[in-house]
Amino acid sequence: MTAQEEPRITGSLVQSYLVCPRQAWLMSRQICPDEDNVHLELGRLIQQQTYARERKEVAVGHLKLDLLRRGNKELVVGEVKKSSRAVEAARMQLAFYLYELREMGVEAEGELLFPEERQKETIVLDDRWTARVEETKARLAEVLRRPVPPRAERTGFCRKCAYAEFCWA
Ligand code: SF4
Repeated sequence: MTAQEEPRITGSLVQSYLVCPRQAWLMSRQICPDEDNVHLELGRLIQQQTYARERKEVAVGHLKLDLLRRGNKELVVGEVKKSSRAVEAARMQLAFYLYELREMGVEAEGELLFPEERQKETIVLDDRWTARVEETKARLAEVLRRPVPPRAERTGFCRKCAYAEFCWA
């Protein structure tokens, strides 16, 4: 990415940024994590199996939505997560999708799904979420423009992070 190029913000990058800014930077440069990472694989499997019947993985421009269905009043976008460990990051990812859809003229409501925990929560893009998404996008874009990644800082997320070997070996 050149200095002038504006980084492309995606939902995965938003989620990663809130878990670890370094992880988002590495992902944005397509630096591949350890493909054998069992946690990534498990996440994929849960997504494939749990919502097999209603699953409609949809790509809308730069957005990759796990589920999309028509609700009572408007579209419902579903985001499926393996666990609620990074729930704040997952909420922001979903709010980001709702924000980007609104920018495209599509109003939608969000459902955050944790099938293993049988949990579900609804996200509505109100003024508070809108402001938080805009702030997060700006902060993330600033990190992605940097020529080098933020320094590794050990947190509770490192243990299950696919970049752990890259950061800490
Ligand atoms: S191992 Fe830790 S520091 Fe490195 S990218 Fe993952 S979460 Fe960030």
